Amino acid sequence: MNKDSLISKDEYINGFKPGSIIYPNVFARYYGLEIKDAYEYLDNRANTKQDIVHVIELHCPHCYHDLPHRYYNINGLLTTNLKNIVCPFCDEFFDVDINTNNCVYYEKR
Ligand SMILES: [Zn+2]
Repeated sequence: MNKDSLISKDEYINGFKPGSIIYPNVFARYYGLEIKDAYEYLDNRANTKQDIVHVIELHCPHCYHDLPHRYYNINGLLTTNLKNIVCPFCDEFFDVDINTNNCVYYEKR
């Protein structure tokens, strides 16, 4: 893709509908950024414009699908029962390991 044809990062984020998820790895790939730079940009946007928020999703260690529930802070996650969860995609049971089975994304407000 020609770099000149890329829309600005602002426009890219503006294009999301409220409630949709912005995936930092997709954002990074689109702009050819390092993943840490993508997170830095999105963190900065969350802090300044406040039109995107952190969201944590868990993923299944068997099929790697993201589970449907969204957590907005680590406390919400820690007060949830994370044992013996059943994956709605592959029907496997698992205990969540919050160190490895989570992804931080951003949700458009
Ligand atoms: Zn699964």
